Amino acid sequence: MEHYDVVVVGAGPAGSITAKTCAKAGLKTLMIEKRQEIGTPVRCAEGVGKDDLKRHIQPDSRWIAAEVIGSKIFSPDGTEITMSEAEIGGKAGYTLERKVFDRALAQEAAEAGADIMVKTSALGLFRVGDENNPIINGLRVKHLGKIIDFKADIVIGADGVESKVGRWGGIDTSLKPNDIDTCAQFLVSNIDAGEYSKFFLGKTYSPGGYVWIFPKGKHTANVGLGVLGSKCGDGARPITLLQEFMKKHLPQGKVIEMVVGGVPLSGQIDKTVVNGLMLVGDAARQSDPLTGGGIINAMDAGKIAGEVCIEAENLGDFTTRTLGEYEYRWRATIGHEINKSLKVKNLLVKLSDDDINTLAHSLVGMNTATMSLPKMVATLFMKNPKLLWELRSLVG
Ligand code: FAD
Repeated sequence: MEHYDVVVVGAGPAGSITAKTCAKAGLKTLMIEKRQEIGTPVRCAEGVGKDDLKRHIQPDSRWIAAEVIGSKIFSPDGTEITMSEAEIGGKAGYTLERKVFDRALAQEAAEAGADIMVKTSALGLFRVGDENNPIINGLRVKHLGKIIDFKADIVIGADGVESKVGRWGGIDTSLKPNDIDTCAQFLVSNIDAGEYSKFFLGKTYSPGGYVWIFPKGKHTANVGLGVLGSKCGDGARPITLLQEFMKKHLPQGKVIEMVVGGVPLSGQIDKTVVNGLMLVGDAARQSDPLTGGGIINAMDAGKIAGEVCIEAENLGDFTTRTLGEYEYRWRATIGHEINKSLKVKNLLVKLSDDDINTLAHSLVGMNTATMSLPKMVATLFMKNPKLLWELRSLVG
């Protein structure tokens, strides 16, 4: 059995950043990907914040499809709120070309020294030690029809929303219908995509979710929506709602690609580490429960996981005593933001379309494009005392 210090399952943003961080420090690293091509098929609206992204990789025109200058939010009655990119703290900015982006990240991991195997699926984990407190120490994979076993000091589960690695390791990653957004998205051409990301809120558009339009060029955009799993039903099928939106708002649009997929919105799960195993990215349910965005959190978590692998190798300890540092560090950073977003999501889900209209009306006439997010929340807070209690934790 070939031995690796770290084996990463899944070559999405979480996996590639983990693999790059480990390999750069000289750890013997392998990243496996079940698909034959890293980056496809894309199941993403591809929007990321500029500043956030720059923490991990220098922007490159090969994988930036478009740059936006801010966001426009529309309430159910069409009231428009504009926010500039600068004022929302670099949280909007690029629409990626993920087919190229994911591949570029994997390339960086390879150049740092990681071995990469595509068309290679993880099938299960090996463990040693006490039955009540086992240590994971390797995995079985299927590569081009052939079964191969690897020994590994640490296995990283970066296998996305449908993760099995966590479950194999004894971690409960199950999602209730209320904890997942079921999404449908079209890549739409023949439209004026504009320079802003656009969000349409309210049950009229999508129960428990929202519609997004992310420009991918002058005349092309990702147009999609997510419906909260618990609200999916006959009247609320994502694809039907999206077709209705298109008919009403973008009748001239031509659909050139279609995507369906799930986004975990559960907030923090109880455990992401066991002896010899860490979960990162969507596999660890680290996407933002409000926006559904998970690329940056996945990369941030991958970086932390990689650093903890280096520490564990230095100490020669792969138990939760050392790997627990990952749990602590991601919860103190990413986890903190996830908690805030979860509160806003839980509030938004409770608001009626009339409530959202009222909130939007209270900002009409104000120059929201130059208003910081905390100032905007504070204004809403003052003008809508009815919602004071629920909004209070966001203002501080
Ligand atoms: P993934 O990118 O899902 O990568 C996991 C990889 O693991 C995959 O390549 C998969 O093939 C591989 N894999 C799975 N099982 C195995 C196995 N057994 N063996 C080997 N390999 C395996 N996020 C944003 O930030 N911005 C957005 O605009 C945005 N829009 C979205 C729109 C939609 C419709 C959806 C569904 C998601 C969206 N997201 C968005 C979320 C974002 O796509 C994810 O959060 C992000 O891709 C998570 O990265 P990851 O590396 O954790 O997982």
